[in-house]
Amino acid sequence: MDDHAPRRRRLTGFSSRMSADGRCGPSPSGPPGTTFSPIAPPRAIDGSLAEVGRRLFAAEARFIAGTVDPSALPPEGLPEIAFVGRSNVGKSSLVNALTGRRTLARISDTPGRTRQINFFDLGGRLMLVDLPGYGYAKAPKSAVRSWTSLVRYYLQTRAALRRVCLLIDSRHGVKEVDRPLLHMLDNAGVSYQVVLTKADKAGKDQLASLPDKIRAELAPHVAAHPEIHLTSALDRRGIAELRETLANFALPVEQSR
Ligand code: GDP
Repeated sequence: MDDHAPRRRRLTGFSSRMSADGRCGPSPSGPPGTTFSPIAPPRAIDGSLAEVGRRLFAAEARFIAGTVDPSALPPEGLPEIAFVGRSNVGKSSLVNALTGRRTLARISDTPGRTRQINFFDLGGRLMLVDLPGYGYAKAPKSAVRSWTSLVRYYLQTRAALRRVCLLIDSRHGVKEVDRPLLHMLDNAGVSYQVVLTKADKAGKDQLASLPDKIRAELAPHVAAHPEIHLTSALDRRGIAELRETLANFALPVEQSR
């Protein structure tokens, strides 16, 4: 037998025995020492890219601008990665976990309060863009209209935008409240991928079945990327893997600005 032949792996679900950094020790679903990943479909992590991601996100993250006004977006330059999800999905916590900072994106227990788009320059190589949350039940209609025109304008006009991370609570999956955004993303032709949050709060069975459900849900959405990440800002699972994925979009060090 060829020792280098890829082992057969389950192509759905997440590993259920992950350590805090997202890697697994011996697991009933694989031989001792097998490394699994909180990525569905499972794939091996590129070690050198993971290191690039670690260094990238360890760099200084500088607040550039925050605005509710579509005409006041900062000039384009760096490749941009945007984060979006319903209010309270854990977006600020995830951005803070990625960058290793407690207060980069404001964590709020009051949903719907952060209405602006915030731009953070990560080491002169990547722009992290924190889009305002949606789906806050008590939001007045005028606020929903403002959100829609701001986010739609950003998605449709931003040439530097490389990928949108669509945050979904791993306990709840894709909800009705996410649909307007899915259509907006499709219409804008922006590549987006689901990043599940709060994995520490979801049950094992739930996590195992979620990727298939989400994939079925997103099948009609042309711009959806097939890879799904599972994360927890609390126990930090999946953070290293998401950094690895996002490192693909950063400028090389020698081109940093
Ligand atoms: P945002 O409104 O989407 O920016 O959400 P926040 O990051 O402010 O988080 C909303 C609430 O969920 C806060 O109480 C957070 O402490 C909590 N939270 C966020 N991420 C996680 C996580 O990974 N695990 C757990 N257990 N709670 C989280």
